Amino acid sequence: MSMLWSPLVRNLEPYTPGEQPQMEGLIKLNTNESPYPPSPKIHALMTADAIAKLRLYPDPHSSKLKNTIAQYYQIKPAQVFVGNGSDEILALVFMAFFQQDKPLLFPDITYSFYKVYCQLFRIDYETIPLKPDFTLDFADYQKPNGGIIFPNPNAPTAIGKSLSEIEDFLQKNIDSVVVVDEAYVDFGADTACKLIAQYPNVLVVQTLSKSRSLAGMRVGLAMGNEQLIEALDRVKNSFNSYPLDRLAEAAAIAAFEDDAYFQECKNKIISTRDWTIAELTALDFTLLPSQANFVFAKPNFTDAATLARQLREHKILVRHFNSPRIVEFLRITIGTAEEMRQVIDTLKMLRQ
Ligand code: PMP
Repeated sequence: MSMLWSPLVRNLEPYTPGEQPQMEGLIKLNTNESPYPPSPKIHALMTADAIAKLRLYPDPHSSKLKNTIAQYYQIKPAQVFVGNGSDEILALVFMAFFQQDKPLLFPDITYSFYKVYCQLFRIDYETIPLKPDFTLDFADYQKPNGGIIFPNPNAPTAIGKSLSEIEDFLQKNIDSVVVVDEAYVDFGADTACKLIAQYPNVLVVQTLSKSRSLAGMRVGLAMGNEQLIEALDRVKNSFNSYPLDRLAEAAAIAAFEDDAYFQECKNKIISTRDWTIAELTALDFTLLPSQANFVFAKPNFTDAATLARQLREHKILVRHFNSPRIVEFLRITIGTAEEMRQVIDTLKMLRQ
C-alpha cells in the first residue's frame, strides 16, 4: 500500500486466478483449460509473412474473425464483438451497461470476477442466493435491477439452465440487459445466441479459452443486438483500439473453421466427464449434475481442503474455494481419459 495509490485502488480486492505452476509432470485440473492442443490448422499460420506483418498494427475491428463467427452462428457481423479474452469483454460490458441507479443482480455462488468489476467500476450489486441444491431460480430475480449476469452453465457449480427458461426470463426483463456468460456452454448447455434476433436485451459472452483450447491466445466474443454491440464498441474504442493481435485473430478463425476437430475434442471431454462422475460417485463423492468441462464434487469421507492438499502432494492440482456455502466442494477440471484414470487411482490409494 502506498499513499500514491488512489482511494479506489487501496480498497480493491482483485480476482485471484488459479495457479499456473511451472512444475513438470503435473496433472493440472484447476483452471478449466482444455487438456487437448488447439486445432493443428494453427501451425500453418505462423509463416514468415505473418511474422513480418507483426510490424503493422492488426485490424482494429477484427473484421475477418467477426465474419467467421457470424457465419458459424448464422447471425450478422454487426451482432458480433471480439476481445482479449472474455474477461476483457466482461469489463467492457460492466462499463457499457451496468453503471445504473439500480443494482446489478447475480448469483451468490458464481464467477468471482463479477464482484471485482463491480468494485472497480463502482457498480452497486445484489447477490441472489442459489437454491439449497445449488440451482438458479429466475423467479428470485424478479425485482428492480440495473442488469443481470449469470454464467450458463454456472461456475463453479457446473449446473445449466435450459434455453426455454432463459427465453421466458428475457421476456420478463425486457428493460434490463441480461448477460449470459457462456464460457462453458459447448460442454452441454444450449447457446442463447439463437435468441439475439428476437430479444434486444440479451448479450451472450463466449470464450475460446475452454472448448477451443486457446486460453493462451486470449480471445473472447460477445453476440447481441446491433445496438448492444455498438455500445461495446464505443467503450472499447475509448480504452484499447487493438484488443486482438494478428496471431490471435488468425488462430481464432482457424479454431472456428476446424469444426470437426472442435467437435472431436468436446465429445472426448464430455465422455471423460461422464466416466469421471460415475467413478467419483462410486468413491463416495456427492456430485452436482455437470454440463461443463469440470465437476463440482463433495468428498463425503474427508474435508475438501485436506483432500486438495493430498492430491497436490501427488502432483494433481484441483481448485478449492474457501467460501462459506461451497467450502466442502472441489472443482475438478476434466483432463484426458488417462489423466482422469490417474486421478481416480490416486483417490483410491488415498482412501485405503
Ligand atoms: N467466465 C467464466 C464463467 C469463467 O469461468 C472464465 C474463466 N476463468 C471466464 C469468463 C474468462 O475466460 P477468458 O478470459 O479466458 O475468456
